[in-house]
Amino acid sequence: MKKNNPIRMCITCRKRESQRTLMRLQLIDNRIVAYRGFGRSIYLCKACSLNEKKMYGMAKRFRLERSHLATILKELEKNG
Ligand SMILES: [Zn+2]
Repeated sequence: MKKNNPIRMCITCRKRESQRTLMRLQLIDNRIVAYRGFGRSIYLCKACSLNEKKMYGMAKRFRLERSHLATILKELEKNG
């Protein structure tokens, strides 16, 4: 039996990757937060999370402060 290996799409570059290699975020009322174990989730690949231009675009798209998005990403890195 193969292990379950769900494929998810990065929200910014649309590249498909294994869910395990992507950063998991969540949308609550159209705002991005770190995933809390329930609700609708969105995914971001490592390359995009390190791409300043893409992160700026993403912050703009979700009407988020760039610094706030950076905080969320740092939080995710820490939690692995
Ligand atoms: Zn990406």
